[in-house]
Amino acid sequence: MVPGELTASEILFLNRHGFLDDEIYDARFETSAVWKDKARQLGFDLVLGSPCQKSGHRIRTRAGHCVQCDPKKIAFVTRHNRPGFVYVAASRHGKILKIGNAVDTDQRERNLCNHQYGSFSDWIIIASARVDNRGQTEQAALRAMSHRMIEKTYHKDGKNQVARELIQAPLNEVLSAFALAIKTDNPQQMWKHQRLADFNYLI
Ligand SMILES: [Zn+2]
Repeated sequence: MVPGELTASEILFLNRHGFLDDEIYDARFETSAVWKDKARQLGFDLVLGSPCQKSGHRIRTRAGHCVQCDPKKIAFVTRHNRPGFVYVAASRHGKILKIGNAVDTDQRERNLCNHQYGSFSDWIIIASARVDNRGQTEQAALRAMSHRMIEKTYHKDGKNQVARELIQAPLNEVLSAFALAIKTDNPQQMWKHQRLADFNYLI
Protein backbone atom coordinates (compact mmCIF):
# COMPACT_ATOMS: atom_id res chain seq x y z
CA MET A 1 0.00 0.00 0.00
CA VAL A 2 1.35 3.40 -0.92
CA PRO A 3 0.67 5.67 2.09
CA GLY A 4 0.27 8.67 -0.22
CA GLU A 5 -2.85 7.05 -1.65
CA LEU A 6 -4.67 7.17 1.67
CA THR A 7 -6.44 10.32 2.84
CA ALA A 8 -5.54 11.92 6.15
CA SER A 9 -8.82 10.75 7.70
CA GLU A 10 -8.23 7.18 6.50
CA ILE A 11 -4.76 7.19 8.05
CA LEU A 12 -6.21 8.57 11.27
CA PHE A 13 -8.86 5.85 11.28
CA LEU A 14 -6.24 3.12 10.76
CA ASN A 15 -3.92 4.50 13.43
CA ARG A 16 -6.75 4.89 15.91
CA HIS A 17 -7.51 1.21 15.54
CA GLY A 18 -3.92 0.12 15.89
CA PHE A 19 -3.00 -0.33 12.23
CA LEU A 20 -0.02 1.22 10.51
CA ASP A 21 -0.85 2.84 7.20
CA ASP A 22 0.67 0.05 5.15
CA GLU A 23 -1.35 -2.61 6.92
CA ILE A 24 -4.09 -2.41 4.35
CA TYR A 25 -4.30 -4.22 1.06
CA ASP A 26 -4.94 -2.16 -2.07
CA ALA A 27 -7.90 -3.99 -3.58
CA ARG A 28 -9.14 -1.18 -5.78
CA PHE A 29 -8.02 -2.57 -9.08
CA GLU A 30 -8.72 -6.24 -8.59
CA THR A 31 -11.82 -8.40 -8.72
CA SER A 32 -13.17 -9.44 -5.33
CA ALA A 33 -12.21 -13.07 -5.95
CA VAL A 34 -8.61 -12.03 -6.54
CA TRP A 35 -8.21 -9.55 -3.67
CA LYS A 36 -9.98 -11.74 -1.12
CA ASP A 37 -7.55 -14.51 -1.89
CA LYS A 38 -4.45 -12.32 -2.01
CA ALA A 39 -5.28 -10.28 1.11
CA ARG A 40 -5.79 -13.48 3.08
CA GLN A 41 -2.58 -15.05 1.80
CA LEU A 42 -0.57 -11.93 2.57
CA GLY A 43 -2.12 -11.59 6.03
CA PHE A 44 -4.00 -8.32 5.53
CA ASP A 45 -7.14 -7.85 7.66
CA LEU A 46 -8.27 -4.67 5.93
CA VAL A 47 -8.47 -3.66 2.29
CA LEU A 48 -8.77 -0.38 0.46
CA GLY A 49 -11.73 -0.99 -1.83
CA SER A 50 -14.48 0.73 -3.76
CA PRO A 51 -16.34 3.52 -1.91
CA CYS A 52 -19.22 2.37 0.35
CA GLN A 53 -22.72 3.32 -0.80
CA LYS A 54 -23.64 5.24 2.31
CA SER A 55 -20.69 7.58 2.76
CA GLY A 56 -18.03 6.82 0.19
CA HIS A 57 -15.63 5.23 2.70
CA ARG A 58 -12.99 2.94 1.26
CA ILE A 59 -11.69 0.85 4.17
CA ARG A 60 -13.29 -2.57 4.27
CA THR A 61 -12.88 -5.92 5.97
CA ARG A 62 -11.88 -8.87 3.84
CA ALA A 63 -15.57 -9.82 3.95
CA GLY A 64 -16.32 -6.48 2.26
CA HIS A 65 -17.94 -4.65 5.22
CA CYS A 66 -17.31 -0.92 5.57
CA VAL A 67 -15.47 -0.54 8.88
CA GLN A 68 -15.73 3.25 8.84
CA CYS A 69 -19.55 3.11 8.85
CA ASP A 70 -19.48 0.41 11.49
CA PRO A 71 -16.23 0.38 13.50
CA LYS A 72 -17.61 -2.57 15.50
CA LYS A 73 -16.76 -4.67 12.45
CA ILE A 74 -13.14 -4.00 13.34
CA ALA A 75 -13.69 -6.37 16.26
CA PHE A 76 -13.86 -9.17 13.75
CA VAL A 77 -10.53 -8.28 12.26
CA THR A 78 -8.67 -6.61 15.09
CA ARG A 79 -6.46 -9.57 15.41
CA HIS A 80 -7.62 -9.77 19.01
CA ASN A 81 -8.17 -13.45 18.79
CA ARG A 82 -5.47 -14.34 16.35
CA PRO A 83 -2.14 -15.95 17.14
CA GLY A 84 1.04 -14.00 16.56
CA PHE A 85 3.68 -12.02 18.38
CA VAL A 86 3.50 -9.38 21.07
CA TYR A 87 6.67 -7.34 21.24
CA VAL A 88 8.49 -4.56 23.05
CA ALA A 89 10.39 -2.15 20.79
CA ALA A 90 12.82 0.63 21.66
CA SER A 91 14.04 3.80 19.98
CA ARG A 92 17.35 5.05 21.27
CA HIS A 93 16.86 8.35 19.49
CA GLY A 94 13.46 8.92 21.08
CA LYS A 95 14.49 7.35 24.39
CA ILE A 96 11.14 5.69 24.20
CA LEU A 97 9.56 2.23 24.22
CA LYS A 98 6.58 0.70 22.49
CA ILE A 99 4.45 -2.41 22.92
CA GLY A 100 2.78 -3.83 19.84
CA ASN A 101 1.63 -6.97 18.08
CA ALA A 102 2.58 -8.42 14.73
CA VAL A 103 2.54 -11.55 12.61
CA ASP A 104 6.17 -11.10 11.63
CA THR A 105 8.42 -9.21 14.03
CA ASP A 106 11.29 -8.70 11.53
CA GLN A 107 8.89 -7.14 9.07
CA ARG A 108 7.33 -5.02 11.80
CA GLU A 109 10.73 -3.74 12.89
CA ARG A 110 11.47 -2.65 9.30
CA ASN A 111 8.00 -1.07 8.99
CA LEU A 112 8.38 0.94 12.19
CA CYS A 113 11.69 2.32 10.91
CA ASN A 114 10.48 2.92 7.34
CA HIS A 115 7.37 4.65 8.65
CA GLN A 116 9.34 6.59 11.22
CA TYR A 117 6.75 5.64 13.80
CA GLY A 118 6.52 8.51 16.29
CA SER A 119 9.05 10.27 13.99
CA PHE A 120 11.84 7.84 14.96
CA SER A 121 13.56 5.55 12.46
CA ASP A 122 15.82 3.53 14.75
CA TRP A 123 13.26 1.13 16.21
CA ILE A 124 14.56 -2.21 17.34
CA ILE A 125 12.49 -5.03 18.79
CA ILE A 126 14.01 -6.00 22.12
CA ALA A 127 11.62 -8.69 23.38
CA SER A 128 8.90 -10.80 21.81
CA ALA A 129 6.78 -13.87 22.37
CA ARG A 130 4.33 -15.81 20.29
CA VAL A 131 0.86 -15.96 21.89
CA ASP A 132 -2.60 -17.24 20.99
CA ASN A 133 -4.38 -13.84 21.04
CA ARG A 134 -1.88 -11.22 20.01
CA GLY A 135 -4.22 -8.19 19.90
CA GLN A 136 -5.90 -8.95 23.20
CA THR A 137 -2.62 -9.61 24.98
CA GLU A 138 -1.03 -6.49 23.53
CA GLN A 139 -3.99 -4.48 24.84
CA ALA A 140 -3.61 -6.04 28.30
CA ALA A 141 0.07 -5.02 28.41
CA LEU A 142 -0.75 -1.52 27.18
CA ARG A 143 -3.49 -1.13 29.79
CA ALA A 144 -0.98 -1.97 32.49
CA MET A 145 1.25 0.82 31.16
CA SER A 146 -1.51 3.35 30.47
CA HIS A 147 -0.22 5.76 33.12
CA ARG A 148 3.11 5.88 31.27
CA MET A 149 1.84 6.29 27.73
CA ILE A 150 2.27 9.39 25.67
CA GLU A 151 0.63 10.36 22.41
CA LYS A 152 2.77 12.01 19.78
CA THR A 153 1.54 13.76 16.67
CA TYR A 154 4.13 14.01 13.96
CA HIS A 155 4.26 15.10 10.38
CA LYS A 156 5.11 12.65 7.66
CA ASP A 157 4.42 12.46 3.91
CA GLY A 158 2.62 15.80 4.17
CA LYS A 159 0.18 14.44 6.73
CA ASN A 160 -0.28 14.49 10.47
CA GLN A 161 0.13 11.05 11.98
CA VAL A 162 -0.47 9.96 15.53
CA ALA A 163 1.62 7.50 17.49
CA ARG A 164 -0.44 6.18 20.40
CA GLU A 165 1.59 3.31 21.75
CA LEU A 166 4.65 5.17 22.97
CA ILE A 167 5.73 4.48 26.52
CA GLN A 168 8.02 6.56 28.68
CA ALA A 169 8.95 4.31 31.56
CA PRO A 170 11.82 2.37 33.09
CA LEU A 171 12.47 -0.75 31.02
CA ASN A 172 11.79 -3.14 33.89
CA GLU A 173 8.25 -1.75 34.28
CA VAL A 174 7.53 -2.33 30.60
CA LEU A 175 9.05 -5.81 30.62
CA SER A 176 7.01 -6.71 33.72
CA ALA A 177 3.78 -5.59 32.05
CA PHE A 178 4.76 -7.54 28.94
CA ALA A 179 5.65 -10.69 30.94
CA LEU A 180 2.45 -10.53 32.98
CA ALA A 181 0.28 -10.10 29.88
CA ILE A 182 1.81 -12.96 27.88
CA LYS A 183 1.91 -15.33 30.85
CA THR A 184 -1.76 -16.27 30.55
CA ASP A 185 -1.80 -16.49 26.75
CA ASN A 186 0.22 -19.64 26.09
CA PRO A 187 3.55 -17.87 25.42
CA GLN A 188 6.00 -19.58 23.07
CA GLN A 189 9.17 -18.65 21.21
CA MET A 190 10.03 -16.17 23.96
CA TRP A 191 12.96 -14.00 22.92
CA LYS A 192 14.89 -11.16 24.52
CA HIS A 193 17.70 -8.98 23.19
CA GLN A 194 21.08 -9.99 24.60
CA ARG A 195 21.84 -6.49 25.82
CA LEU A 196 18.46 -5.54 27.23
CA ALA A 197 19.97 -3.14 29.77
CA ASP A 198 21.12 -0.88 26.91
CA PHE A 199 17.49 0.03 26.32
CA ASN A 200 16.70 1.33 29.77
CA TYR A 201 16.30 5.01 28.98
CA LEU A 202 14.55 6.06 32.17
CA ILE A 203 16.16 4.89 35.34
ZN1 LIG B 1 -18.97 3.47 5.00
